[in-house]
Parts: sequence; C-alpha cells; structure tokens
Amino acid sequence: MTSIEHNLQQVRERIATAAASCGRSPAEITLLAVSKTKPASAVAEAVIAGQRCFGENYVQEGVDKIGQLKNSSLVWHFIGPLQSNKSRLVAEHFDWCHTVDRLKIATRLNEQRPTCLAPLNVLIQINISDEHSKSGIILEALPELAKEVAQLPRLTLRGLMAIPAPETDYQRQLAVCQQMASAFSELKKHYPSVDTLSLGMSDDMTAAIAAGSTMVRIGTAIFGARDYGTTHNNN
Ligand SMILES: *Cc1c(COP(=O)(O)O)cnc(C)c1O
Repeated sequence: MTSIEHNLQQVRERIATAAASCGRSPAEITLLAVSKTKPASAVAEAVIAGQRCFGENYVQEGVDKIGQLKNSSLVWHFIGPLQSNKSRLVAEHFDWCHTVDRLKIATRLNEQRPTCLAPLNVLIQINISDEHSKSGIILEALPELAKEVAQLPRLTLRGLMAIPAPETDYQRQLAVCQQMASAFSELKKHYPSVDTLSLGMSDDMTAAIAAGSTMVRIGTAIFGARDYGTTHNNN
C-alpha cells in the first residue's frame, strides 16, 4: 500500500467515526482531497486508491494537473482566492468554485462558462470568524448575493463554504460551524439546488461534521506536508 492510499484510508475512517458519533451516515460527507502544490503523480496515486474529488488553490497549477490527469471521472474544485483575471481558466476547466464572494466574479464565471459544459457549481464563501481574512462575505450580505448568483444561468448555486479562523477548543469550533450550518439550512429553504456545506479541515473536521458539513477539505493528512519553496507563487 502506498502512503497516500494508507492516509486516505485513515482519513475516511476519521470521517466515518465523526459521522457515527453524531448519528450521520458517512455517505453524506464528501471528502475533497486538497492536492495544491502536489504533483499530478500524487493525484494519480489517490485516484488509484478510489479518490475522485480534488481541490486546487492555484488556478494555473490546477489547470495543468487537470490536463495531465485527463480523467473524466474526476471532479475538480477550485478552492483558492480568485482574481478576476483568472476567472476564465476556472470557468473553462473546473467543475466547482468554492470561493465566490462578489457579484463581479460570479458574473464573469457565468459569462465565461462554456456552453458545452454543465453549469459551474458554485459555493458562496462566508467570512465566518476570521477578521484577518479578506476572503468571503459577512453572513448579513448572503441573501442579496445568493439571489444574484441564483439568477445566473451558467452557474448552479450549490451552497456555502468557509475557512474558520484556527481554533483548538472543540466547543468554540462547534459554535462557529453551527453558525454556518444554520445559514446553510436557511439558504436551502430558498434554493432547491443548495445541498453542499464545504466546511472542515484537518483540525476542525469533527466539529464541522457534527454541525452538518457535507464536504470536508483535507490536504496534508492525505498528501503529506507541503513545500512552498519555489514554484507556487504564480496564482
Ligand atoms: C490548503 C487548504 C485546505 C487543506 O489544508 P490542510 O491543512 O493541508 O489539510 C483546505 N481548504 C482550503 C481552502 C485550503 O486552502
């Protein structure tokens, strides 16, 4: 067994344990393997181990890997901050974008999504607790942006994403995740296409699942530590 295969098995077990402890089915929770900075060969190993959904933060790096893997059963999620001048590549190559946080980006993705592809699945990013982050909107701004995004025909509004500020205390993690979960269930009432809450990373996965996350984003625990040495500043 390769270490990526072994790691994937362990992460799947952690998800199953977290789900079981709050009475949920592990099938409700999608594991997004975050492969940023890792080579296509690492993604290929994960594919052999049964992984299908991958998350990338850097547009060009993701596009390169999508081209190298050329496997139509894979689902590619863009999860990094998105600048307007990179939106076309996301619209043309990815299946999902988790980081929609303004109408301008949504409008560009909508215009740039090729008609030969299914609508781009999008999540609205919420800045739930991180005052140092410039990414994401405040919850109060969600109803208006959701309404605008839902009207764009080449996008499908699937739900919400957040990156909570790092926090080691479980109860505090849970409180933040529950705020996201209640915004998510409110959004669901208005938009039948909404079914995804992208919440939970290695350190807060258990709290996120207890609160109702449907998608956890895990990188290091699958692929090992990242080396930001030289090549990845070309977002
Ligand atoms: C890098 C990243 C992750 C994964 O982080 P790890 O600590 O490697 O598990 C998840 N979500 C987002 C948005 C990321 O940028």
